[in-house]
Amino acid sequence: MPAKSTVKPKPLVAGNWKMNGARASLNEITVMGLAYDADLRRNVDLLICPPSPLLYPAATTALGTGIAIGGQDSSEKISGAHTGDVSPSMVLDAGGSMVILGHSERRTDHNEKDTLIEHKACAAIATGLVVIICVGETRAEREAGRALAVVRRQLRGSIPRSANAQNLVIAYEPVWAIGTGLTPTAADVAEVHLAIRTDLKKLLGKQQGEMVRILYGGSVKPSNAKELLSVDNVNGALVGGASLKAADFMAIAETYR
Ligand code: PEP
Repeated sequence: MPAKSTVKPKPLVAGNWKMNGARASLNEITVMGLAYDADLRRNVDLLICPPSPLLYPAATTALGTGIAIGGQDSSEKISGAHTGDVSPSMVLDAGGSMVILGHSERRTDHNEKDTLIEHKACAAIATGLVVIICVGETRAEREAGRALAVVRRQLRGSIPRSANAQNLVIAYEPVWAIGTGLTPTAADVAEVHLAIRTDLKKLLGKQQGEMVRILYGGSVKPSNAKELLSVDNVNGALVGGASLKAADFMAIAETYR
């Protein structure tokens, strides 16, 4: 029998600032950078995704800190007459290296479906960005016992063929846990993350599927980070509200010291 692989993906703690922040908020990145010492850098990657107008100044502020900067969305198109949209190459040009796609707020506010997310992921990967694809069930879907089916459908529908462990991150974000202070039990997180891991191995092959980072997102804060981040197959967190303050975000990252 072949030996069981013990290599695990390097954790990632990612901050999603959503439609919050101004230039003055960039000081939080400076403070995060000061706390992100060599020891922590060895154990965990950090990413901040500010709103698009702050991408370039955030990337400039983060220079030399080891903190990566990313977008919150990017278009499936490369350029042209698409008012208000941001192309993946613009995210890259502004200093971003990653992009969040298919966040539940975009799925709801902009009616984004799996196929569109797959096209966006395809364009972003082709441009050289790492994509963080978000999946997660609503409260009604969980209560109807459909959480796993919904997450697996979103996963299969939104991961492009060009994805691999280097350019893909998955974020499991139960919609009902985002910004509500509610979180699933550790057992529920473990069940969904195992299902995601199993499907990733089927979709990308065993080796690649094992190395894709699967983040948990939804009301992660310093007080619950240790419990949530120690669940099997949880390789980091996608953090909304608690990423706006350096002290909270770094307290979550400290879990990995
Ligand atoms: C998010 O929006 O991705 C998120 C996880 O938000 P919060 O941490 O505020 O629940």
